[in-house]
Amino acid sequence: MEKGEAIFSEALKEGRKYLLEPEAKAICVKYGIPVTNFRVASNEMETVQFAAEIGFPVVLKIVSPDVIHKFDVGGVILNINSETEVRTAYNRILENVKKHKVNARIRGILVQEMAPQSTEVIVGATKDPQFGPALMFGLGGIFVEVLKDVTFRIAPISESDAREMITEVKAYPILKGYRGQPPSDVEAIVKILLNTSRLMMEHPKIKELDLNPIMVYEKGAKTVDARIILE
Ligand code: ADP
Ligand code: MG
Repeated sequence: MEKGEAIFSEALKEGRKYLLEPEAKAICVKYGIPVTNFRVASNEMETVQFAAEIGFPVVLKIVSPDVIHKFDVGGVILNINSETEVRTAYNRILENVKKHKVNARIRGILVQEMAPQSTEVIVGATKDPQFGPALMFGLGGIFVEVLKDVTFRIAPISESDAREMITEVKAYPILKGYRGQPPSDVEAIVKILLNTSRLMMEHPKIKELDLNPIMVYEKGAKTVDARIILE
């Protein structure tokens, strides 16, 4: 059986074409793609408990099939440092989401570790009807959004393809470290690209995948938000 098949059938059964963040991250975990630690809480008490287990600071996010862009509707609260803050954030998120859509279906509150700020990269994949899945790589923020400094390869990719993708973006020197900034763990990005390639090859049902952003550290990397859209 394909990895993560149950998650896909659950979404399709509900008529959803995209996976909720915890579902997309669960697929990532199955493919060895590192993500922020997370749990889905179903009430305020559980949210408090999971936050304590994960360890402060944490991030709370709405889990709802009616909210795709969570941040835009006040469905994401970052840098929560105590139980009191967890309770306030929990109630604020639910209030914000109800303001956005009165009868929004709520699947829970996603509690996750707050990833320390670092160099941000993006890994994406889109399926071309003719060539199959194409992988994309770039550095986050203005590099992708303004400068369109990205690179593509048709999957499946080899390890040397992955390395080339990383070194051929113009922003590559930033990953090597500059002006006293530590270098980023390029090997961790190579692994993420290879695992994303494998994930896309094994799941022809996926139309689009977006790991954005991935925080890259001197050692290791962490996907902060993951989206998967189905055919
Ligand atoms: P959206 O659904 O609006 O894309 P995200 O989950 O991407 O919501 O959260 C919005 C932004 O908040 C992210 O782009 C990132 O900058 C920040 N963020 C989200 N989760 C975390 C986290 N666990 N650690 C650190 N920053 C985060
Ligand atoms: Mg996002």
